[in-house]
Amino acid sequence: MYQNDTIAAISTALGEGAIGIVRLSGPDAISMANKVFKGKDLAKVDSHTIHYGHVINPKNNHVIDEVMTSVMKGPRSYTMEDIVEINCHGGIIAVQRTLEVVLDQGARMAEPGEYTKRAFLNGRIDLSQAEAVMDLIQAKTDKAMQASVNQLQGSLSSKISVLREEMLQTLAQVEVTIDYPEYDDVEEMSLTQLKETAESVKASIEQLLRQASQGRLFREGINTAIIGRPNVGKSSLLNFLSGVDKAIVTDIEGTTRDTIEEFINIRGVPLRLIDTAGIRQTDEIVEQIGVEKSRQVMEKADLIILILNQAQALNDIDLELLDLTKDQQRIILLNKSDLPTVLDHDQLAKYVDASSIITTSITEESGLDQLEAMIEDRFLGGHLQAADVNYLLNTRHTQLLKQAIEALEEVIDATDMALPVDLIQIDYTRAWDLLGEITGDSVQDELLNKLFSQFCLGK
Ligand code: GDP
Repeated sequence: MYQNDTIAAISTALGEGAIGIVRLSGPDAISMANKVFKGKDLAKVDSHTIHYGHVINPKNNHVIDEVMTSVMKGPRSYTMEDIVEINCHGGIIAVQRTLEVVLDQGARMAEPGEYTKRAFLNGRIDLSQAEAVMDLIQAKTDKAMQASVNQLQGSLSSKISVLREEMLQTLAQVEVTIDYPEYDDVEEMSLTQLKETAESVKASIEQLLRQASQGRLFREGINTAIIGRPNVGKSSLLNFLSGVDKAIVTDIEGTTRDTIEEFINIRGVPLRLIDTAGIRQTDEIVEQIGVEKSRQVMEKADLIILILNQAQALNDIDLELLDLTKDQQRIILLNKSDLPTVLDHDQLAKYVDASSIITTSITEESGLDQLEAMIEDRFLGGHLQAADVNYLLNTRHTQLLKQAIEALEEVIDATDMALPVDLIQIDYTRAWDLLGEITGDSVQDELLNKLFSQFCLGK
């Protein structure tokens, strides 16, 4: 199943760096590289060795760059094909010229993700591992990176394989029972077997989804909404946390009109911060859109930071916000603690548990350490360890798993109704196929192309 052409691309980020790598993969990788490399005969070197020399333009023998060239012979390589990596001096020109002379030798420019695609097509990694490569590249925190590495090593794949194997065995047993109908209760036995397996596989998938929802927090960030009525300090907090003057801080009420998103890393917890317009009743149209957005944002937030101004009494809007967020994961900031206290703490205590209240002065940067500590504690406090984020499911995985659950539920219902076994097998097999799509055991070309095109060039 090896590809018959040889591909080449620049595998490092474009720009000035200490080195830039041109990578070739395919049956002619070594012979093509040999034509542009002077220093050693690459056809004769051992696999997994690196060699000093120069890249030249064979047309005029001009030296393009001084390089180190490594040779990795298939199948012990990333793609399982012969790979040559030419390490040029950084800088755009040398790397591009090197790529050009390699292409002149007949190599084809690689598509984004094509090396990883070949690793998949050649059977070295499965689809969920290929996706893990992409996650690894895009990981925003150490935890997310660790989870991607686990996935790359096949944690999701092996889990799915076990489930599929379990399903296959039951199916085989059912086939056997049907082929040898010497017993009277053949149908009944088959129904019981199918039902039991469907229930057990369904339970495993549900558990996987639960664990992965934790993983999602680390991959996509914890959707965090900073809310509070106008002028309590929402923009100031956002600016402090993100370290960028992106949100506009102002004394005029309601100036943060649109939502601004910012991705930040707080003590290893990735937060996707959404600063929203101050929630208040208003006649102005732009403001209303902002207010409506705030409500929507609040609904999909994993964490809410509700800011109150402790230099003022609680008003109706504060109370409304306290009520709206009461069932959500929330942290309440009593801000402007540098000003005299007006807010009635006893009144507040009726609505909020003291353990989620922090007193802050954003302008004087006090109390913000406690805020960071509380976020760390809530999301990393013992209950969410890297082990729990072993399974990183992307939307594609989640959808397939949910569809598989639906198919299994049909199986369970159908067995309860004692429908004919061959009819039940249709849904059963569909669930099996859906699981197979996660690892790429049953997968269409179109999907593959779409997936790998999301990779960066040269990977
Ligand atoms: P937003 O409307 O909720 O986004 O509030 P802003 O962040 O724009 O802040 C409104 C005003 O309150 C600005 O003048 C800030 O400098 C000020 N402010 C924010 N935090 C504090 C604080 O802790 N103490 C005091 N005294 N003023 C603050």
